Amino acid sequence: MLDNQNLSGKKVLVRVDFNVPLDNQLHVTDDTRIRGALPTITELLERGAKVILMSHLGRPLKDLDENGKIKFKYSLKNIVPAIEQLTHHKIEFRTTPLDGEEPFRINDDPNTITLLENTRFYKGEEKGDTKLAEKMSTLAEYYINDAFGAAHREHASTATIARFFDSTHKSFGHLMDKEVSNISKMMDHPARPFCAIVGGAKVSDKIALLDNLLNQVDIILIGGGMAFTFIKGNGGSIGNSLCELDKTDMAIELLKRAKEKGVEIILPIDVRIAETFSNDAASDIVNSDNIPDGWSGLDIGPKTIQLFDSYIQRAKTILWNGPAGVFEFPNFAHGTFAMAQSVAKATSTGAFSIIGGGDSVAAINQAGLEDRVSFVSTGGGAMLEMIEGKVLPGIAAMKSEI
Ligand code: AMP
Repeated sequence: MLDNQNLSGKKVLVRVDFNVPLDNQLHVTDDTRIRGALPTITELLERGAKVILMSHLGRPLKDLDENGKIKFKYSLKNIVPAIEQLTHHKIEFRTTPLDGEEPFRINDDPNTITLLENTRFYKGEEKGDTKLAEKMSTLAEYYINDAFGAAHREHASTATIARFFDSTHKSFGHLMDKEVSNISKMMDHPARPFCAIVGGAKVSDKIALLDNLLNQVDIILIGGGMAFTFIKGNGGSIGNSLCELDKTDMAIELLKRAKEKGVEIILPIDVRIAETFSNDAASDIVNSDNIPDGWSGLDIGPKTIQLFDSYIQRAKTILWNGPAGVFEFPNFAHGTFAMAQSVAKATSTGAFSIIGGGDSVAAINQAGLEDRVSFVSTGGGAMLEMIEGKVLPGIAAMKSEI
């Protein structure tokens, strides 16, 4: 990272991904992404740099209050205590608008980290606006992109800004390097069998991923709400379970293509069903293609957990994206936590495992197993796009200059 540069006293602007979940009291509930940026921040401080951090948080301009104003829950001010606690440094929070005329001054104290307000408060951010990017670039002598979680966005702070620094004044951060090398290792030279566990709500969100995985993996275990579109397509009775009726043909087509390519797609054989969509709902376990009318499958059942585990224990490379059920409800979290246990166990016997996607990362953290898998990616969308074979704008932009 900026290896041959003397950074002492120099301002370094670091684009991090601090898009972290907050609870109703606006406290950070999962600090994985902040912890992920620590190696970069710590090294810069040790080299005497003045660190300026910038990040987005949510989509503030898409969720304005009734007066058309930005809601406070999107301010990065809310995460200052979490950053101070993890960096053991004082944070100076700056709200000076980047799109106004006001000059921007950074605190000169090398022990203070400056944190800028949410980059998405500025209209130009998501448009990749050149003027905004240029103004951001004037804040520092160096630019570091450590925001893997936002690398699939062509935004002012993630991509356009890189053009304003020559190759000796910009660099990826340690997290970005680690993410790219781990995901490349998984996709380029996977030890086999390669097993993907894919869950979550919608097939439509994951279709490009599944399509691409057919060229890479040996086994795909499908859990979560998305499994029901496949089960319905196969003629099963799924009651009120989540289903994208207009995607059943696509699901069947995918199963056919998998067969042609010799990839095994394994669907749940039994499910835990609920009478209503709530944690305390009456529940039962039934075959996945025989769900009574009015009931919904909210988790995979015990036979499926065992079946999935048998594939996971044989795998040498494991990718997990998306929960196996509505794990936010403790009574329907069993399948998701069992997947976490299975992946950790397989890792302990030599498999290389990567977990990605907000919900699966939250699940592995809640299970306390984050240190027992090979790598937890901080970038759900970015990781999926990389696996889909796309070039990420945040990575490509680092090679450009004007
Ligand atoms: P995704 O963002 O697509 O990975 O989806 C994550 C969401 O899928 C979580 O909020 C889960 O509660 C939800 N989910 C997982 N399984 C089910 C299911 N069987 N029925 C409804 N929602 C589900």
